[in-house]
Amino acid sequence: MPRHRTTALATAVLAVAAGAVTTVTTGAAAATDPAVTAAACESGYVALTYDDGPNPSTTQALLTALRNANARATFFNTGQRVQQNPALARAQVTAGHWVANHSWSHPHMTQLSAAQMNQELSQTQSAIAQATGVTPRLFRPPYGETNATLQSVEAQLGLREIIWTVDSQDWNNASTAQIVAAANTLQAGGIILMHDAYQTTINAVPQIVANLAARGLCPGMISPSTGRAVAPDGGSTPTDPGPGSCTATYAETQRWGDRFNGQVTIRAGSAAISSWTSTVTLTAPQSVSTTWNGTPSWNGSVMTMRPNGNGSLSPGATTTFGFTVMANGTWTTPTVTCSTP
Ligand SMILES: [Zn+2]
Repeated sequence: MPRHRTTALATAVLAVAAGAVTTVTTGAAAATDPAVTAAACESGYVALTYDDGPNPSTTQALLTALRNANARATFFNTGQRVQQNPALARAQVTAGHWVANHSWSHPHMTQLSAAQMNQELSQTQSAIAQATGVTPRLFRPPYGETNATLQSVEAQLGLREIIWTVDSQDWNNASTAQIVAAANTLQAGGIILMHDAYQTTINAVPQIVANLAARGLCPGMISPSTGRAVAPDGGSTPTDPGPGSCTATYAETQRWGDRFNGQVTIRAGSAAISSWTSTVTLTAPQSVSTTWNGTPSWNGSVMTMRPNGNGSLSPGATTTFGFTVMANGTWTTPTVTCSTP
């Protein structure tokens, strides 16, 4: 089943091949003309997925290949690699792709306790939210290994489990031609497993997309409600809130039998901001027992959080605050906003 790491040889080759790539593209999204898309995608949508990134040696080249093919994909990132390469995770989102959860450390999840599973998934949720401003809705277990305990942890975190309908075998030394051939077996709604680590996989992008187009199929997003590939709705791409504005993104980072921890990521828009104010709206009878990294005030179920210190953020920069919610039997996810003076 899909491996996590390349062989030492492959890693060395890729590092040389991509050694010159040091910039992170933040250009326009790979959006297609809607009029063209409607006609071209008459047979439906499939999902291109790339696991185990982001990788400093390959992600940028993969993003370039996808942009050149005008294709959007879903990246199942590990939390550990997002923490190491936050700019690459952000570049995935900026380029119009979808980011999803592939655990923190790529373990065999079914060998873990429920608490360890929760830790793997919730830490990754918050690392991705912090790096990209997007809280994932999809989770792919490493190696496709799952069980009922894992599925209940996923459900608690609002994650839909996604496996695949076609395995490209790129992790198993498949050639570019073999990866392209695997993609040719995709049916509408289907999902192909690939990895963000292999030059063979990157080289397959143009032919995969051309062959899909010839069959009336287009790369789409994975629906969190059905788990199938559907037309993109653009919903996971954070829009620039505008100069002087900010966005707030919520992620649940831990849950116990009676309470959960929430984390809010505040992100500045395309210009620096000098301060911010965030609201967190709870559902009665929930109550907040503790907060950190901010100064709260209250009005009923609405907590208003202000920064400790001056709250200034440079363009695109983020900061976070957190809180513990006593559920009192209600597990509704808080809603959050951000505003600037
Ligand atoms: Zn993997």
